[in-house]
Amino acid sequence: MRAMGGWGDGGVGRPGRLEDAGKPNVRGPEALVARYWRMAVSPSPHLPIAVSLCAVALLVVGCRATPGEAPSGRERLTAEPRVRVGLVVDSAAVALSAAGGLRIAGPAGEDVARSAAAGWTIAAGSDGRLSGSGGGRSFGPVAGPLTLSPAQGADPAAPLRVNGRPYRGTVLVRSDRPGRVTAVNVLELEEYLKGVVPFEIGRLTPGELEAVKSQAVAARTYAIARMGKGPAGFDFYATVQDQVYGGLGGEDSVATRAVKQTRGEIVTYRGQPIMAYYSSTCGGQTAASPESWPWRPPQPYLQSVSDRIPGSDRAYCDISPRYRWTTRWTLEQLRRVLRTPLAALDRRPPASVRQVEAVRILGRTPSGRVDSVHIRADGRDYTVRADSIRWVLRMSSGAGLNSSMLFDATLHPEGDSIALEVHGGGYGHGIGMCQYGAIGRARAGQSYRQILGAYYQGTRITRLY
Ligand SMILES: [Zn+2]
Repeated sequence: MRAMGGWGDGGVGRPGRLEDAGKPNVRGPEALVARYWRMAVSPSPHLPIAVSLCAVALLVVGCRATPGEAPSGRERLTAEPRVRVGLVVDSAAVALSAAGGLRIAGPAGEDVARSAAAGWTIAAGSDGRLSGSGGGRSFGPVAGPLTLSPAQGADPAAPLRVNGRPYRGTVLVRSDRPGRVTAVNVLELEEYLKGVVPFEIGRLTPGELEAVKSQAVAARTYAIARMGKGPAGFDFYATVQDQVYGGLGGEDSVATRAVKQTRGEIVTYRGQPIMAYYSSTCGGQTAASPESWPWRPPQPYLQSVSDRIPGSDRAYCDISPRYRWTTRWTLEQLRRVLRTPLAALDRRPPASVRQVEAVRILGRTPSGRVDSVHIRADGRDYTVRADSIRWVLRMSSGAGLNSSMLFDATLHPEGDSIALEVHGGGYGHGIGMCQYGAIGRARAGQSYRQILGAYYQGTRITRLY
């Protein structure tokens, strides 16, 4: 697969953004698994993506972010907003440079320093004041936040670099706690999306433009819904915690065209921005949201949708390397992956698992995903529901299971090399847009409006600005 950003073969793929959004927000036994999952996977605890949305506020009264300031929620969003992206968060220092020199301004816009080609390394003192050094010069300590911009204005040939990587817009540097700095990229939403889309759907060909446009609209919908909700004083992380953002250096000509051609457009249902979930590969049938996440309120536009190509027995997403897959565990691997999640379900500290006596699929949802799975280990019985199975029955690499679309699970209690073998389909939670399906549909001639309309039932495209 040409796709970059972790979409390819070989177990390094990402199931797509918003993929894990539902995990921490669960009840019952799944909550324990989710807590384990969050501790095990997230480098720092973060709030679940509440997707409470600006919703009504957005379209009726609007949400708008300006640098260093949370959206007021009082203005109608009719112009392109600026967004704030946490590039370097809570670090000992950050390096900034621009080929044509930098201008550094203080909180009131006053000049703090300028430099020629040499960049600055900025760090914070124990009092939170900021100091810079570079090329034999220094400034500070001064109160932050500092705004850094290229001295020659927005020249793409001489962009601002943060720790060596080029970005559009300006960068705010501030200290949130003694001795630590955070660098936030402030830029227009559309410019931000140019650095997001290639990482979320991969680098595709001009013939697949309509799929990339679908991704651009979904990513914009997510961004609009999340603006002003970030707990850390900016709108989005530049990582899988939100949408992956690679800045200017990650941009791609097809993705840039897709962003431009859909400028200001988001997906709405009855006038409100939707929860534009998407995942890599639905396996032939997307999941209605309660099938994968029964612990979350259902959404009328997140129905199960067939990804079959009409008049054939193929699916639009059968081009995915994980359309069908087989995963195997040795007994030792099975013991290792089950050790912590089973203990979490029992509310006890992680303990070794000696024997796995049963792994049985108890029922299936209409789209072919597991309703629940019974696991018996060391004489204890566990029932794991829906998408949670992916975080309990991890692959031997430690990554979550590809999907909860399991066709069979065969346990070989006496097997020396293979203790468990599972056949399944798809990659990701399966809710909302199927990214490989979108590519298949674009190749078949569908427009991005048709693609989004297929995966988000009853919705429309709304242009905000
Ligand atoms: Zn699909």
